[in-house]
Amino acid sequence: MSCNDIIITAVLWYLNGCMVSFYQQSDGEEQKCPLETVNLPYPNLSYRSINILKITQPAVNRLSYLATLNLQNNQLTTLPAELWQLTGLQELNISRNQIKSIPPEIGYLVNLRDFYAYNNQIQELPSQLGRLTDLRVLDLTANKLNYLPVELLSSNLNKIWVDKNELFSTKKNNMDGWKQWQKKEVSSSTIYIPSTSDDILSLRSTCIQTIGEAILDDPDQQEALQESCLTQGMLEQLSIDPKSAPRCSVCQNIMFHDDLWLMHFDSFLKLTSVPFLHRACSQICWTNLRLKLQVEKMMACNNIT
Ligand SMILES: [Zn+2]
Repeated sequence: MSCNDIIITAVLWYLNGCMVSFYQQSDGEEQKCPLETVNLPYPNLSYRSINILKITQPAVNRLSYLATLNLQNNQLTTLPAELWQLTGLQELNISRNQIKSIPPEIGYLVNLRDFYAYNNQIQELPSQLGRLTDLRVLDLTANKLNYLPVELLSSNLNKIWVDKNELFSTKKNNMDGWKQWQKKEVSSSTIYIPSTSDDILSLRSTCIQTIGEAILDDPDQQEALQESCLTQGMLEQLSIDPKSAPRCSVCQNIMFHDDLWLMHFDSFLKLTSVPFLHRACSQICWTNLRLKLQVEKMMACNNIT
């Protein structure tokens, strides 16, 4: 049997401190007894060939004291949902894994200061990352990013690294400063291509946004919603957590749809012409944003000449 057939699972739990048990699974058989259990007050789980990370739910509250978690140089493709409940984390290192996405729930890590995610497969970043007011250091070197969320422009970052991404190949096709984009699903990944026509918010999305805003402050209406004739897909779109939901780049309203996009290029922390993605909740916000970016571009051109 080759090493490739072996799956290593690390389970974080709590007993007078942070405990980590390592399990090994081979040939479809699950190992019932851990290979090794260690007490790691400040867990450094780097270079352990871990394929799967688990955090037991009862340990989540007890582990909220953890300020750092180092998971670099493993074989992780996803991160467990419980990770985003470890709200004491100030430094998180997930570098040199195979992680494809960072979920919006990273917005719960309100104490995060340093986030190292270099050498992964990350295609897009949630806008919630830009709202972490303590975040100072962000290393995204060598991923698959096409753009950054515009919320990073107003963050308190001191350092950002984005070399070896696809940010600058985007620029070649879009020298005119801003562009509306269309979201396309290609096999299992999402890409963005320049849109040839003005984006119009669909009637479905207009309804979802209107209903969503109406029920936000009124739990009674949410119950009524469950008994309504809305489709399952619409109900799912409406059941987002306000604390981790994306917001409109213009009016800051919570967004219930994902339809209106606009890309513009900006300089940022010594980086030149980085594509930033805006999202708008309504046709009015989208039009206002477009006008604002056009005016900014005109003013920038006038300053140069
Ligand atoms: Zn808006």
